[in-house]
Parts: sequence; C-alpha cells; structure tokens
Amino acid sequence: MRKEEIREYFIRVQESEKVSHAYIIEEESGQEAEALAGEFAARLECEKGTGCGTCHSCLAYASGNHPDIIRVRHEKPDSIGVDEIRRQLVDDITIRPYSSPYKVYLVPEAEKLTVQAQNALLKTLEEPPYYGVILLLTANAGKLLSTILSRSVLLKLTEEEQEERLLPEEDRQLFLSLLRQARSLTVTQMADGAKALKERKVPAGAAAALARVYFRDVLVVKSTGKRELLRMPEEYKGYGEWAEAASYAKLHRILEEVDGMERRILSNVNYELAAELLLMAMKA
Ligand SMILES: [Zn+2]
Repeated sequence: MRKEEIREYFIRVQESEKVSHAYIIEEESGQEAEALAGEFAARLECEKGTGCGTCHSCLAYASGNHPDIIRVRHEKPDSIGVDEIRRQLVDDITIRPYSSPYKVYLVPEAEKLTVQAQNALLKTLEEPPYYGVILLLTANAGKLLSTILSRSVLLKLTEEEQEERLLPEEDRQLFLSLLRQARSLTVTQMADGAKALKERKVPAGAAAALARVYFRDVLVVKSTGKRELLRMPEEYKGYGEWAEAASYAKLHRILEEVDGMERRILSNVNYELAAELLLMAMKA
C-alpha cells in the first residue's frame, strides 16, 4: 500500500470505531512508517478526533510529551529485550489511559524484539485492554512470531515511486544543468547538450519525468513561492530565476514540449533532434 492508502485506511478505521489492538507496519527502508503511526496515534487521541493540531492532546503529542502515546525505546542497538518490553509496554498497558480514550504504543524496529520479548508481548495481544493499541513498525515482518502476526493487522508500506530520482546521478546532473541554463544557451550549446544526452543514452521516460517535476516545481514557486510544496526543494534557486523569467503560458508550453520530446523519442524520432527541440522550446 502506498503511504496515502495507509493514511486513508487509518482514518476509516477510526471513523468506523473499529480500531484493532495491534497493527504492524512493514517498510523495507525509509522513515514513513513511523510518521504514519505517529499521525494515527495523534488522531486517535485528538479531542476532535481529527488530529487537529491545536487541541490539548495534539499539542501534547507535538511536544513529545503525550502521556498516553508511548514510544518503546531500547538500549542495545540490535535487540529489544524482554525486560524493556515488560516495563514499557506489557506492565504499563495495564494502567488506564491518563487523559485519552486510548493508550497507544509505538514499537519501532520491532524485528529486533527477542523471542522472549515477543512472547511477553503475545500475552498482551491475547488479552488486550479495550483501550490498548499497539503499533509495531518493522523492516521485516517475517522476523515476528506467527502468533503475533495472526493477532495483528499487517500493513505493507511500499515506497512511493520518485520518478525524478530514477536517472543515474551523473545523467541527472547533466540534464538538470541543461534545464537550469536553457534560457541562456546558444544554439551550439543546445546541440552539444542534446548530443551528450544521446551519447550517455539517458532514457527518455526518466528524463521527461525529471523535466516535468522540474517545471511543475517552477510553477509552484511562481504561484505560491512556497518551498515546502516542492518535490525537489534543492533546486529552489534555479526555480526562482525561471519563475521570474517565464510567463505561465510559457511554462505550460514547456511542459507540453516535454511530453512532445518523450513521444518523439518513443516513436523513434532521432533522439538528438527531440532533445534539441525541447531545449529550443525552453529558450524561445
Ligand atoms: Zn487535536
């Protein structure tokens, strides 16, 4: 499931008041799972049930001091021991929530739970208190006991495709530098750029995806100026220059031309020519 799907799933679960006692979010790499789990915990505890960000509960969560949202920590880098899980979760969960409808536990790196620790946790999962919600976050759910898996809802988080990162770094930088400078390139420089792209066999699909993200970002800068909305915030400076120099109409024309370049290359029009046409459209 993509991040957005898991987020929607959690919202449905909460709204239908069918919150399970245990969820496992599996994510091979990255840190999205923890953010998703935290968001879900905050929604569950929110006084408005929305994760409003302004109520007492949400503010406590934001400050990292919510008494009923507990993040299980471990001392050894490679394992979570039975004592740690007992003290922080198994025993603690028997105490009713302090101020909220639920008591929510986040267990990052759950694959590091020792077998003993998992067995201790299992006891809780067999007879959880009505207010208890346990969120296990793991890079590999296969490391968990089948008895734990069978008592939990397993959500697999797949990485979102970041097409703009698909090109090998060197190709990516080459193409980006052409996008940044396209307005001021001479005809000869454009021809050289197109030739370099061809010689390096930069794939048209990934290059077009990168150009699309680039110019959509430029449009975002032009219309909102907001850096936090950008897919490639590191290009902010160049975006500002484009936003200043190009009209909305021109930026939309460039985006059309990006599609055109991709189509031409896919239909076997000379690669160099297609790339050159794109660069010329950016300059015009
Ligand atoms: Zn709130």
